[in-house]
Amino acid sequence: MGAAALQGSERIEALEPHMGTMFRIVLYADDPGAAHVAIRAAFDRVGELDSELSDYIPESELNRVCETAVGRDVRISDDLNTVLRASQSLADRTDGAFDVTLGPVIRLWRSARQTGQLPTADALAEAAARTGYRHLHLGTGVIRLDLPDMQLDLGAIAKGYAADEGLRVLRDHGFPRALVAASGDIAFGDAPPGKAGWETGVDSINASSEAFTEVLTLHNAAISTSGDTEQYVEIGGVRYSHIVNPKTGAGLTQRIGVTVIAARGIDTDELSTAASVITEQAGPAAALALIEQAGAHGMIVLQAGGEWKKYAR
Ligand code: AMP
Ligand code: MG
Repeated sequence: MGAAALQGSERIEALEPHMGTMFRIVLYADDPGAAHVAIRAAFDRVGELDSELSDYIPESELNRVCETAVGRDVRISDDLNTVLRASQSLADRTDGAFDVTLGPVIRLWRSARQTGQLPTADALAEAAARTGYRHLHLGTGVIRLDLPDMQLDLGAIAKGYAADEGLRVLRDHGFPRALVAASGDIAFGDAPPGKAGWETGVDSINASSEAFTEVLTLHNAAISTSGDTEQYVEIGGVRYSHIVNPKTGAGLTQRIGVTVIAARGIDTDELSTAASVITEQAGPAAALALIEQAGAHGMIVLQAGGEWKKYAR
């Protein structure tokens, strides 16, 4: 083995809460002191992104532009610009199945998860009237919104982008053998020393429709999983996911899990959420076609007629 293959003798792991979840960094280093400096910088970068992209932090850049950019161009940070450009492109490609202007509707379903009560039809109609990605306009480094009281929500894309950026900071500090994980979104750098890649488990279904965990080995890639396994509310025997289908105005009711693998977390994160919606709207083949057209790989597990099925491409 050459010197490069031996580099990174010690495995270092660190956790820190950001973006409403626990971020995890794992890296291999010879110099733990330098590694901890790099980890601090990576978490700080994620924190910076949270202050720009969060819809929970009242004074975030995202929430400020919802108030200031109504009917006029307002300058935005490079990060917000990057994430919104990717979002709007995906909204175009999915006819609005992926839509970061769904904030008002998403908030109603968020309350439903807390109270266990369905949103009323009136409340949903009022919220839906303040949505629509065609009411969000991006110019060169600027944003403009058509309607007052719009609420942008980057919950389907910000964590993947933050994982990419955390990984980039670690690499810039000299630690390319690293991963950054944010619950369902993980960005992987170079493989651990002496290994082909990072092993990661994904939910899968075998031929007899039994769920099991498939292990994948990845490096210099990202993976995201979306679905209803973690965040949902069950009301009147119906299970509503935290992902909203804009055509129905409701949380997804189909039991589904989507895994996407691509080069970057910003892409896997938005695609896995979009593919979940497309599966309900148009079926798994259409969702896999979207993933393939984006140059990514996807796997969908879906409950149909009481039985789990798996679709992959
Ligand atoms: P993820 O866990 O990446 O699938 O993202 C789910 C989050 O994305 C939700 O908690 C909402 O904040 C947001 N979201 C829900 N539905 C949509 C949608 N149709 N398009 C874009 N973002 C959505
Ligand atoms: Mg997502």
